[in-house]
Amino acid sequence: MNEKEVLKVFKAENALLTGHFSLSSGLHSPNYLQCALVLQKPKVAEKLCKGLARQLKGVKVDAVVGPALGGVIVSYELARALKVRSLFAERPEGTFCLRRGFSIKRGERILVVEDVITTGKSTYEVIDLVKSLGGKVVGVASVVDRSGGAAVFETDFHALLRINVKTYRPEDCPLCRERRIPLTKPGSRRS
Ligand SMILES: [Zn+2]
Repeated sequence: MNEKEVLKVFKAENALLTGHFSLSSGLHSPNYLQCALVLQKPKVAEKLCKGLARQLKGVKVDAVVGPALGGVIVSYELARALKVRSLFAERPEGTFCLRRGFSIKRGERILVVEDVITTGKSTYEVIDLVKSLGGKVVGVASVVDRSGGAAVFETDFHALLRINVKTYRPEDCPLCRERRIPLTKPGSRRS
């Protein structure tokens, strides 16, 4: 799948909106990305993760690990495509750990996955967890990379879609200044 095809899927599922949005961070943006909307349909999630798996051809993977909640579906679908185990890491108290009997054997080749990588912070933390358990991180994969190149890993980083979602402080927002598009708060709509 090329980026154009992926973008088409996002738009078809209303997962990437264009307009003037007030984000939960308080910042304003001309775009709104909600990856959960492309993953809510198993067929779409499967198709996207198959596309991501194709980018990983030749990489030997024993298991896939993603941080909960965002990485759970991607971990599962990617594991299905790669025919390996799917694990997820949780953060009950500040730091990520494996629970529910999940384990990584020493030397196992682990792919760390996410739905969206913004700063890469939780991905770095899962990488540290995998290493602390004796696993070997063989790559990072995400459906979307919106880090704008800021998320850099010591392994290859595969993403289906690399987009730069611009954000502005309300007082600096050009869309507020233009007053052409009313400000909306996605996710707060009840319909
Ligand atoms: Zn604005």
